[in-house]
Formats: sequence, structure tokens, C-alpha cells
Amino acid sequence: MLNPKHSWPLLFVATFAFAQKPPIQIVADLSEAPRKLFHAEVDIPVNPGPLTLITPKWIPGHHGPGGPVADITGVVFTANGKTIPWRRDDVDLYEFHLTIPAGVATLHAHLDCISTNVTSNQAVLEWERLLLYPAGIPVREIPIQPSVNVPSGWGIGTSLTPISAYDPEHPAGGTVHYSATTVEMLEDSPIMTGAYFHEYALAPDTTPKHYMDVFGDAPEDVEIRPTVLDHWNRLIHEALAMYGVPHYRSYHFLLALKGMAGGGGLEHHESSDNSMPERTLTTDDNEMAYSDLLPHEFTHSWNGKYRRPAGLATPDYATPMKGELLWVYEGLTDYLGGVLGARSGAISPEHYRQQIALDAAAMDYTTGRVWRSIADTAIAASAFRPGPAWANWRRGLDYYPEGDLLWLDVDTTIRKLTNNAKNLRDFMAVYLDKGGSTTPTVVPYDFNEIVADLNQVVTYDWAGFLSDRVNNIHPHVNLEGIEQGGYKLVYTDKPSDYQKAASALQRGATKDVWFSLGVALDNDGAISDVRVSGPADKAKLIPGQKILAVNGRVYSKEALHAAIKQNDTFVTQADVDYHDGERYPTLVRVERAPDYLNEIAKPLAMTSAPATGSQ
Ligand SMILES: [Zn+2]
Repeated sequence: MLNPKHSWPLLFVATFAFAQKPPIQIVADLSEAPRKLFHAEVDIPVNPGPLTLITPKWIPGHHGPGGPVADITGVVFTANGKTIPWRRDDVDLYEFHLTIPAGVATLHAHLDCISTNVTSNQAVLEWERLLLYPAGIPVREIPIQPSVNVPSGWGIGTSLTPISAYDPEHPAGGTVHYSATTVEMLEDSPIMTGAYFHEYALAPDTTPKHYMDVFGDAPEDVEIRPTVLDHWNRLIHEALAMYGVPHYRSYHFLLALKGMAGGGGLEHHESSDNSMPERTLTTDDNEMAYSDLLPHEFTHSWNGKYRRPAGLATPDYATPMKGELLWVYEGLTDYLGGVLGARSGAISPEHYRQQIALDAAAMDYTTGRVWRSIADTAIAASAFRPGPAWANWRRGLDYYPEGDLLWLDVDTTIRKLTNNAKNLRDFMAVYLDKGGSTTPTVVPYDFNEIVADLNQVVTYDWAGFLSDRVNNIHPHVNLEGIEQGGYKLVYTDKPSDYQKAASALQRGATKDVWFSLGVALDNDGAISDVRVSGPADKAKLIPGQKILAVNGRVYSKEALHAAIKQNDTFVTQADVDYHDGERYPTLVRVERAPDYLNEIAKPLAMTSAPATGSQ
């Protein structure tokens, strides 16, 4: 495992020299964001002689070399009014080589970035899209002072500190300047901007301050229902009750509500960059389908940003990352995101158990588990390619849902071993108490520390426990957490409320007939994935095919489900031999066993929902 502590001292001399220089100045011009173009003017302090500048390659939170170099265009370097020629490195395509002439102290760079993650009314800038800085220096040692232009009338959400006071919902126009920071913190502090914006101050009785910065494509999108605001307030209290001391000076949830595009999130120390389909917050069912997203990204401020696997805590964005502990970074966060979703009221305890059932069933029916371990999905995370075709055989990012079930197993095992005197909160107390300051800090860990922290909670063979579950191949999913929690995974003939809600927002592959016929279907009948060894696989159906007819009737969801209920053989281009009826996962209570799953979903924070301020 790469230990960054060993590589930093080699860079210290160069670091010290650079730290004496004035900060890089960067002006991000987002005035053409609706046209999918960002621009930047960057002034970099330099010395005469050879210079290598880099653009970030290994992006924190992406866990891979997904830097935007292919989108960076229009690069021009000038100094003292003259153009400076450049040449890209032949091997590392993220490096630009230049020779700085005598007498030049500041190099000016212009660059553009093609950014398709925008609408005509909103945009997000993750700063790696516009950054250029000297190679070979830890990014935490490079000072930089950012400024931003946004389209006239657009509001700005960010955790950056403005140099002069302004109203984020109505910036006066022109350039907004922010306090100098480091390249590391700037990359960690995105800007979300848009025409329709409302900033909600959350849980105003807590310190430091928390904000939800909501952007939409229409004015009504950003007016949030009181029940949702109540859940968000409770989320802050529940997170602080579970994790203790925060490691941010203030926290901004940046939330883009847009179209029917799928949702997602990217974690940062002091903010998170989140998106959801625009109707997510309009009904309780839709909110339930995304109840874990904001808690997941918020949890990362502690687990992922503050505590980080040593292999992911690299000194710059050029050094390759090692993902072997992503089942802690993402797996534990995924588990806690679900738990906080339930504790904050965004999903009921019953629906939370249905969510666990769907995760467990999906993992049990992921046939790729016969050839690769959870650890392998984490180690190879940086080679992951998205795409639905044969995703169940690829088993790409399974360290997330498998991590959910693993940490539920840890939580219920602690409860069982201590007769319910302790639980995962006691582990979090040990794991998160490493003397880090209350401002953004990274404290790396390794596998042995996780084992030692668990042993501080309760003595057990945690090394053997984790190693077996993570490193070994298990043809069936780990159901111990569910069973120790007092429940059993079963299949019924009707989808759970949670599965219906997730399906309606197309969150993840649609699993309506996955556990029966063994295909994942889009709404129009296109097959996105075929479950290896399932009935559809035996009939040689192919991802990408479209089901045109079911038993001679033009395809519709209803016709397909009617055929499954009648135990028919389906004739499309092939016979699908399936006769076992509809099949949907849920959890049922095992009487007399302790009901830990219900306890896990109960709020920790003793608070009546405080009034929500708005600013
Ligand atoms: Zn995550």
C-alpha cells in the first residue's frame, strides 16, 4: 500500500520554495456555461527555465484516473505579452511542458473546458476542470486565489469564502472573489450556479452552519416542502449524534434538481455536489427513492474525506490511487447513508428494510460473485466501465451494496456480542477520534487500524471476520446482518413499496422481472441486462434486444406480468422457460429474535424539529 507519508519528504524542498510565492490566481468564467463551455484565466508564479504544468488526473471521490484532459481545449500560454510554446508529455497526457524565458515571473494561461453536465439554467464547476499547476508539489502546499463569473442573475452555492459580503442568491454581477486557499481545497470546493436558486439554512441551532443550496430549472423547483425541510434538519442532528465532531468550517449541500436525468453525488470536506431528478422531492414516495443520497454524501465528510484509506490519500492528483479499502470508504458510507435516511425520517423503518431486501436480493442474484471477491471490485475500481450489458457478470461497483450488508453484519455482530450494550456508533467513536482538527484534515488508515478500532469496541476475531467476507469468493450473499437483525429475506409475488418507488424514478437498473425472468428492462421493453444462468440467459436473450411481443401480444409491462402470472412460456425470438411466477424480495420478521433492524432505524438525536431558517 502506498504510504504518502513516505513520498512527501522528497518533495519538501520544492514545496517550501513554491510556498514562498504569491498564490496562483484563477478566474473561472462560467458566463457561457449554458453553451457547455467553461473558460479560465490563470496566472501562475514561475521561475525562468523548464516548467511542467499538470491538470488533475486522479480525482478524489471518482476513485480513478477520470480527469478532464480530453475536454480541455483552447490552451494558450503567454508571458510579458508573448506566446510561450508548449508540448504535451508523450506518456503522461496530463502534463504540459514549457520553457519559461528569462525575466518572466508570471505565466498566464488561458484554457477552456467542454462541460456537458449543464442545462440552460444551471451548471456545476468541479475545479479540476480548469486547474493548471506545477507538477511534483503536493497540492496542499500550492496557494491559489479563485474568482468566478456567472451568467447575469444566477445565484452561487459554494463552501468557498467570499472576500467581500454578497447575497449568494442575487450576486450583483461581475466577478466574485474568494479567499486564497490551496489547490487541494479548491479542487474540494465546487461551485454550483443557476438561474433558480434558494439557500436554506438547516438546523440553525447547530454549529458550524449548514446550508442546503437548491438549484432547479424552474422557480417552483426550488421551493421545498416543509416535510422535506424537516428531514434535512433532522439529518444534521442525526449525523452529529452518530459522528461527533465535524471537520468542516461550514457545510453546503449543493443540490441540482434537473430533468429526468438520474441522480448522483460527489463528496467533499465542506460540501457535496448532488443531483436528483426534478420531481424527487415532490412526493414522499419519490423522496424515499433517494432518501440515502444526501446522507451518504454528508457522511463522506467524516468517512472518506477526514478518514481516508492510505492508498487513496495521495499527495497530488497525478499519483495513482489504490482502491482496496473502498469497502470501508464507500461500503461503510453506503450503510450509514441508509441508516441516516431512516433516522431522519426520509424513509420509514419498514421501507428501509425493503431497501435492504432489494440490495441483498440484487447481490444474491449478481452472478459475477462466483468469480470475483468484494476486495477485487474495490482493487479494480479505477478500471470500472459503466454500462448495463452483462453488468451482473462484471459486478463492477459491488463494494457499495456488498459493503452495506457487510457493515450491517458488523453492526449486528457488535450488538450480539455485547448483548446490545454497544453498536456501530461505538466503532465510529473510536474510528473518528484521531485528534484531527475541526477544519478539513486527512487522517489515513489501513486494514489493521480498522481491525484494531473494532477490537477496542469488543474483542473478536475481526481480522478473520473481515478477511473472509471481503477477500473470499462467496457464491451467495451475506445475510448474517439481516438475520442477526431479526429478519429473513423472502420473495413474494408483489413488489415492495420501496421497489415500486425506486423503479418509478428509474434508480438503478429496473429489477421488476430480474428475480423471475432474469432480465433488466427499460420502460420501453429494451433489455439492459441479462442475468447469467437465469431463464432469459438460457433462452440466449441479448442485452440491447427489445421485447416486441409476449405470447403473441404486443409488448407492454402489463402483458409481460400477465404472462408471468399465467406461468406461460414466452415466445419472442426465443423461448424463455420460466414457470415460477412473480418474484420480489422483502424482509419478514423472525419472532423471538431481537429486532435490531428496527432499532438501527430509530433516531438518535433527542430533538424536536427546529424551525427552518432561510437565507
Ligand atoms: Zn460515496
